[in-house]
Order: sequence, then C-alpha cells, then structure tokens
Amino acid sequence: MSDAKPTDIRRQPFPTGLSAPVASPIVPSVVYSTENPDALDAQYRDGSAYTYAREGHPNADALARRIDAMEGAIGGHVTGSGMAAVSLPLLACLNAGDHLIAGDQLYGRSLRMVTQELPRLGIQTTCVDPTDAAKVAAAIRPETRMILIEVVSNPTIRVADVEGIARAANDAGILLAIDNTFTTPRSFCPFEHGADIIIHSVTKMLSGHSDATLGYVVAKDPEHQEKIASLGVTLGTTPSPFDCWLAERGLFTFDLRYDQAERNAEALAEHLSGVPGIKRVLYPTRPDHPDHNRAMGLLRGRGGHMLSFEIDGDWAAANRFVSASGDLAFAPTLGDVGTTLSHAASSSHRALTPEARAAIGITDGFFRVSVGCEDIDLLKSDFARAAVAI
Ligand SMILES: *Cc1c(COP(=O)(O)O)cnc(C)c1O
Repeated sequence: MSDAKPTDIRRQPFPTGLSAPVASPIVPSVVYSTENPDALDAQYRDGSAYTYAREGHPNADALARRIDAMEGAIGGHVTGSGMAAVSLPLLACLNAGDHLIAGDQLYGRSLRMVTQELPRLGIQTTCVDPTDAAKVAAAIRPETRMILIEVVSNPTIRVADVEGIARAANDAGILLAIDNTFTTPRSFCPFEHGADIIIHSVTKMLSGHSDATLGYVVAKDPEHQEKIASLGVTLGTTPSPFDCWLAERGLFTFDLRYDQAERNAEALAEHLSGVPGIKRVLYPTRPDHPDHNRAMGLLRGRGGHMLSFEIDGDWAAANRFVSASGDLAFAPTLGDVGTTLSHAASSSHRALTPEARAAIGITDGFFRVSVGCEDIDLLKSDFARAAVAI
C-alpha cells in the first residue's frame, strides 16, 4: 500500500471570483448544490436557480435568450434537436380527439410525426398545400386546434400564404405554429405575421457550422409555453450544454453568414439559369418564381440562402453531376457555413414513389442547394464543371 495522501476530490465552487469572463463558460454540471432544504424548497417554488440539468442549465438559457431577442419572443425553450422543437408543441397543446392541419411539404420527419405518430395518439391530421389559404381554411373543422406550416417549403421553395392562413386561424380561434428554420428571423418574424408558436431547427443556419444538433420553440401565450417546456423536461429533450455553447458562438456571426450566403444564393441562381443542362431554377425573389409577388412582400424581398434547380437528365445524369461537382459537399443538410448539395429523390423524398415525387415537381434531376459563404466565383465554377457532366 502506498502512503500517499488521498487526493481531495470534494466539490469546490469554480474560482471565477469577481472576474467576468467575456465568452460564456460551458457549464456541463448535471446537478447544482443548494444551501439547505429551505433554500431548495424556495428555489423549486420560484424557479430562481438551477437544480438539475434536464430541468434547465445556463448554456441552454444563454442561447434561448439570444434567439428570443432575434424573434421578438419571451421565454423560449431550447431542445436537443429541431425535431424535439417540432414535436413538443404538438404533444403539449393537442389532445386525443383534436385535429391538426399541416403543410403538405413539411420537413420529412415533421410530416412523419403528424401523419404517423399523432394519429396513433388519437390526433388526426389533414395535410394541405399552404400556398393556398382557401384550401387551408376549408380544411378547418370544429375540432381543429392547430395549423403547422413552414414559410418556404423544402425542397420545392414554394412560399406559403402566411397572411391568409393567419387570418383563417385567427377567425377560427386556432393556434398557428410556424417552423421558421428555412427563413430565419433575418427574413421573416412569425410573431409579426400572426403566429402563436415559433419553431427552429437551430442545427441549421442559426448555429451554422454543422456541429451541433439543437432546436428552439416558443409560444406567445405563457401558459402554452409552460406546458411545452414542462413536457420537454418530462420527455427529456434537454440539449447538451456544449452544443448550446457552440450554437451561441455561431449566433455571433449569424447576420454576416446569412447576408453573405444570401448574396451568393442570388448570384448563383442567376448563374445557374444560364448554364446549359440546367432547365429550371427555383429562388423566391426571381421574377420567374411561382410565388414571386408573395415572396417579395412576405420576406421583405429577401430570398434567403436556399435554392433548388433541375438538371435536364435522369438519375444517372444526377450521379454524374454530383461526382463532377468537386469540392461541393453532397450532404442532406442545410445552413452550413459551406455550400451543401442535396438530392431529394435519394434522401428526403426517397420514401415516395417516383410518381408521387413527380406530382410535387421532384424529378430524379432535382437538386437543392444550401448556399454557403464561399467566394462566389469558386461556387460558379464548381457548378459549371458539374453541369458539363450532365
Ligand atoms: C432540419 C429541420 C428540422 C429538424 O431539425 P433537426 O435539428 O434535424 O432535428 C425541422 N424542420 C426543418 C424545416 C428542418 O430543416
């Protein structure tokens, strides 16, 4: 046996003293100590301090307060993924027997949630084209409690008639939830357009570096928000402190990244429209876009960082296009600081038959681009080289 003195591993306060660090510290602690039972009782009653990380931690709150400020919201809740942020308001605000209206082009997993999971729990969903507010209004039933839409659809880049849908929801006294991931508060603030609930996959443009999986959800009504946050604690949709820290760090350059990516997207859309072998380019502020007028008004003329295009060719040509695209990352995500290219027929829309895909305009030659912040000339030459291979 060694006679070495045991190392003292008793917990001690972290010695920041009176110095305030400029960058947020990462607080991975799962649990927080309290002075005595009286103090613990008081902090549970008024929610004034941290107790256990699943119930909340400083890095989640630091991130939530920043996204609140961007969205003009109060008391938003950060979750461990965008899907958790989509699921929580559905599960917290709807009951068995209620009816939901959902956009028919929602993010794939969101569609799965509303068409496969909710019906198991006795909540029926009708999927409707959100570019047509009259169709949405016509789908409202006495038991309809919520409408869930995205502003710009993925990957077809159609722009929802948010104003018309908000009017219909308001007239019928039902909640409007908007997934603002694609549009971001830089081009669209849902609370200014009649939404009751805002959802984000923070994983994408807000965080911006494809290294953190996170979501955010906020309801205008504090009672709804309390239900949503409480269900998150019960289901355990808690985000990792490190991921929250990464996303908070990412937000410092969000405006710069978004504006640069948008400038690139506009220029790339223009460039692609003149490249032989590319037969259709979808970008909301282009005059040939089917929702051009709506996009100019609703998105304040901001087209964002997402565009789609169709090559004049089949699946084999799509393969050649990607193989020849050089340094472009072929990856089914969006919002990264670098440009990513994705192919709906082999990823997000693979579960649909080719006929069902064709009905919504997704052919084997259909691509979506999440435009990044690279030098635009590099992007143009990568795409031009790929197009030669079609
Ligand atoms: C990615 C995405 C989600 C899901 O987010 P995760 O962070 O991947 O769980 C939800 N909605 C939209 C519009 C998305 O793009």
